[in-house]
Amino acid sequence: MNIADLFEEGKTIFSFEVFPPKKESGIETVYDTIEKLTDLKPDFISVTYGAGGSGVTNPITKDICSKIKNEYKLETIAHLSCINNTKDEIDKILEELKKEGIDNILALRGDRVEGLEPKKDFTYASDLTKYIMDKGGFHVSGACYPEVHMEAKDAVDDIKNLKKKVDAGADHLISQLFFDNRVFYDFLERARIADINVPIEAGIMPVTSKSQIERMVTMCGASIPASLSRIMQRYESNPEALRDAGIAYAINQIIDLAANGVDGVHIYTMNNPYVARKITEGVESVVKHNR
Ligand code: FAD
Repeated sequence: MNIADLFEEGKTIFSFEVFPPKKESGIETVYDTIEKLTDLKPDFISVTYGAGGSGVTNPITKDICSKIKNEYKLETIAHLSCINNTKDEIDKILEELKKEGIDNILALRGDRVEGLEPKKDFTYASDLTKYIMDKGGFHVSGACYPEVHMEAKDAVDDIKNLKKKVDAGADHLISQLFFDNRVFYDFLERARIADINVPIEAGIMPVTSKSQIERMVTMCGASIPASLSRIMQRYESNPEALRDAGIAYAINQIIDLAANGVDGVHIYTMNNPYVARKITEGVESVVKHNR
């Protein structure tokens, strides 16, 4: 089914993201995580491509998506980046996904990997989106950036480029993580003014450790509001307290987003079922109320 159809009823969609293990040996841990996540009945689970942007990992992404779809009977989105792939490689990946019945793809450009010369067949995610749409047989989602993509000239240019991705066929967007909901609401307004009318899910990452958050902020440039900064300073020497305060912060963000009628919330689980469960429990009645 097309993930975009989930939004037609106007309910708040609740989805999770997991990533493949860096080593084949970690696959059982991911399956264990997914089993726990499926209990929480998300609307879909997406699976990233390339652990930490380290290159071509489709066999594992595909296997995990297949398990979610065919064993757990949940909808799934396979992430797919194009910067390090030729058209022939993309064709092969699409064929493999099709064989498993996976028909939703998050089409991405991907990040440059040090020491790896980008391939020349695709420059932007919109090129991959158009390529997949022209081939047919798949529904395409795309990424968006409430705080503007790090390489974009400015916010106006970034939105213009996002519109190209939607015009190429992306009918559902998932946002980069953010910690200040006002940033997301401003972005939504810019997107709607630019005539981007597809469902846009808000990306939420619970802060579970200081080093994790510092890494993510360096990678994606998300700003840290003073209230979250105070939490990090206050509890940095107590990992359990920091984790629980981070979960509470994410729950507050989600409740505010749901109250403001956002299309959906996408939780970056970091493969941590404890955190996903605590958040789901914290927002369960709010999400149900929006259904
Ligand atoms: P694009 O949409 O191509 O945008 C990249 C830059 O180019 C932007 O600055 C944009 O403004 C500009 N641009 C776009 N189109 C044009 C154009 N036509 N002309 C001029 N400029 C243009 N990475 C992974 O490796 N694996 C993953 O699984 C993964 N999952 C992700 C999931 C989400 C929800 C998000 C938000 C990001 C994810 N990423 C993942 C990271 C992503 O690959 C990087 O953020 C990457 O730098 C940009 O990818 P993109 O698809 O948004 O690129």
